[in-house]
Amino acid sequence: MAEPEFEQARKELVSTLEASTLFQKNPEYKKALMVASIPERVIQFRVTWEDDKGEVQVNKGYRVQFNSALGPYKGGLRFHPSVNLSILKFLGFEQIFKNALTGLNMGGGKGGADFDPKGKSDNEIRKFCVAFMRELSKHIGADTDVPAGDIGVSPREIGWMFGTYRAERNRWEGVLTGKGGSWGGSLIRPEATGYGLVYYVEHMIRYASGDKESFQGKRVAISGSGNVAQYAALKVIELGGTVVSLSDSKGALIDTEGKGFTPEIINEIAALKVDRKALTALEGHSFKYVEGARPWKEVGQVDVALPSATQNEVSGEEAQALIDAGCKFIAEGSNMGCTQEAIDTFELHRKEKKADAIWYAPGKAANAGGVAVSGLEMAQNSQRLKWTSEEVDEKLKGIMKNCFENCISTAKEYLTPAEGEFPSLVGGANVAGFSKVAAAM
Ligand code: GLU
Repeated sequence: MAEPEFEQARKELVSTLEASTLFQKNPEYKKALMVASIPERVIQFRVTWEDDKGEVQVNKGYRVQFNSALGPYKGGLRFHPSVNLSILKFLGFEQIFKNALTGLNMGGGKGGADFDPKGKSDNEIRKFCVAFMRELSKHIGADTDVPAGDIGVSPREIGWMFGTYRAERNRWEGVLTGKGGSWGGSLIRPEATGYGLVYYVEHMIRYASGDKESFQGKRVAISGSGNVAQYAALKVIELGGTVVSLSDSKGALIDTEGKGFTPEIINEIAALKVDRKALTALEGHSFKYVEGARPWKEVGQVDVALPSATQNEVSGEEAQALIDAGCKFIAEGSNMGCTQEAIDTFELHRKEKKADAIWYAPGKAANAGGVAVSGLEMAQNSQRLKWTSEEVDEKLKGIMKNCFENCISTAKEYLTPAEGEFPSLVGGANVAGFSKVAAAM
């Protein structure tokens, strides 16, 4: 079966490894790459559940246990009609190297189902979660494989699945992360991916400006309106930036008066999302809703772009539009948010324009904050302790700083940037993440 998304993710990794000096210095890593490209195990299962009319429904469930060299398989569950093995293999593959970049001991995996929560009642979603976990519970465990949320799976779904695991296995253990605060969840986990993304970009801005600039006064385009986009937006606003767009699957919501989104409006959006309503409800205030569009060509002048919706949400053409709009920093809140054409456009600009270039950070580095705090949740569960928000946030900041510095120093060592050129963060992230896993293997 053709696996276009997985092939895209693998090619993206391999092309940067081959452009670096990694294989010259470590010829044995070529074999490790071949081995690491095949999942250790793929579990596929049938999920049957009963809808509100009493009819039997059936979906395909999966868990890709990709690599456990660094620790238990770790990665989210995605419930979306587009889910298939190619998408889960791409996500699981990326997850291996992302998890390595957190510096914590986690392997890589991903799972989910082709179930579409849209248009389903709460009761139907709950029944699906129970049926899904009845099967998945046979294959996971706190020291084996620890899933979490992803698109379509929020703390509510994690709750239904965690309850099912406890009942099925008669064990309370940290088998899922992203749990609720009162039953083993970590503080800051809901915020972690969005906050971590903004912390990472703050390092990019400081590095590029010689510590003179920050988010203060920057115009920031964000796509998506789920958990990642919401908390990224709130952190940007807190740090003095202006958020000029968000989006959902049907279109983009664009600021028309230059004032940007306020925390109150983000909270309104969060409430809309819980009710699974469209962003069109907010049109009017000082926003326009552009149907069928993504924000990139609609936002006008911006300094920072944070794709935070789904994979392949920035095309080559949109990448060029962002560059033309003066965008200087682009970092993925989503996994593989940029197409290969978009990455090539950004990377070419980086090489040609040096200090005036746009600077691209891949999701496996920039959005690692979510899984990093999942790792901290696992640590708290194992210790039977709960850390304060301040403690978790400090640790998250430290992890994002280390991740950024690791990408920079690795790019300098293995990709030898020309004088005045920003080190390639995509190359640095790939070489740093992969070599850690290869060494462990
Ligand atoms: N789904 C998130 C990711 O793509 C988080 C995974 C996790 O916390 O295990 O990294």
